[in-house]
Amino acid sequence: MTDYIKTAKENFMHTYSSQDVCFDHADGVMVYDTEGKAYIDMVAGIAVNALGYNNEKIRKRTMEVLEDGFFHQSNLYYNKWAPLAAERINRVAGSREVFFANSGAEANEAALKAARKYGSKAGRSKVISFSHSFHGRTYGSLTLTGQQKYQKGFYPVVPDVVYAEYNCLDSVKALLDGSVCAIIMEPIQGEGGIIPADGDFIRGVREICDAEDILLIFDCVQCGLGRTGKIFCFEHYGIKPDIMTLAKALGCGIPFSACVAFEKAAGIFSPGEHASTFGGNALASALSLVLFDELEGGLAEEAGKKGAYLRKALEAVAEKHGGKCTAVRGMGLMLGLDLTVPPSAVIARCREKGLLVCSAGYTVLRFIPPLIIGYDEIDRAASIVDEALSEL
Ligand SMILES: *Cc1c(COP(=O)(O)O)cnc(C)c1O
Repeated sequence: MTDYIKTAKENFMHTYSSQDVCFDHADGVMVYDTEGKAYIDMVAGIAVNALGYNNEKIRKRTMEVLEDGFFHQSNLYYNKWAPLAAERINRVAGSREVFFANSGAEANEAALKAARKYGSKAGRSKVISFSHSFHGRTYGSLTLTGQQKYQKGFYPVVPDVVYAEYNCLDSVKALLDGSVCAIIMEPIQGEGGIIPADGDFIRGVREICDAEDILLIFDCVQCGLGRTGKIFCFEHYGIKPDIMTLAKALGCGIPFSACVAFEKAAGIFSPGEHASTFGGNALASALSLVLFDELEGGLAEEAGKKGAYLRKALEAVAEKHGGKCTAVRGMGLMLGLDLTVPPSAVIARCREKGLLVCSAGYTVLRFIPPLIIGYDEIDRAASIVDEALSEL
């Protein structure tokens, strides 16, 4: 059989430190590697595979698009799916306009350009982001990412981006100098270590933005689309952003993202000012409608209940291993177990025992399973984490 891992190592640019596992097929929340080993998947392709694997509705919709004979045309014309996808997002979110792209970073690039364009009439170009944030790896989104480890070696980054301290309103106020056009934040920081924003902090940032005519951008690439128990995580806080970015789960595994404008940010771009060849791809758009059908049909709410159940299970693990675990954080099915032992050691032991988990930040074990995960699978996953921690 082909040694895929060896072939990858010989031919890929060395940007990843991938684990030596190659997947063959998957079903439900189980994935199977090329050796036939089965894993419960608490990674879900990094919060992408919300509907799990071998999903009948995804299969049917894909065939339906395939029957038309194309996946892609271009934005020189329209297709039958992207208009419906945009309409659905606007209806469910209460937003006004959608720009489609292909990745989280690209959606954030669109948001950054929209913010700069919005500020340009008043000569304001400064964007406030936050410590420990993550917004992607393209130059604009890399600059928005408030972690030096990602920027090191790639300076100079994009000018006029400054960083406030997450969950500290005073640090935001200290940066207001009349030149700020936007504030971008993750309502729950993902890559930074599963760190939720306080409700009062989020509402305080909203008030500042209203008072100073600043656009509030929520990067919901990871925490959006049902993961927190609501379809959009801003629903937890009683406020709305001016721009929201979505990606990861949006295309059910096909690259797809959206930069979504609410009232205040509508009408910023004129024809020719922004574009993406693949943006609004027919297959990706069609699959996003499958996701919304499920989310609106109760999946988001279910995810909230299952998240509460997983949280309880992780809290029991944390209590039992008090010396190795310091906290359980997060919302819904976006949870982190903060460790005093290296996450990589726990991840490797879990993998041997048939559980996929990943890390976030330097110390956190991250749980972002398919939203369709069952209670029994949650129990099995928690007991594997318990076993792995016992061995360390
Ligand atoms: C993953 C992620 C991104 C980047 O998405 P890509 O599709 O990898 O470009 C941006 N923001 C957040 C919050 C993310 O979790």
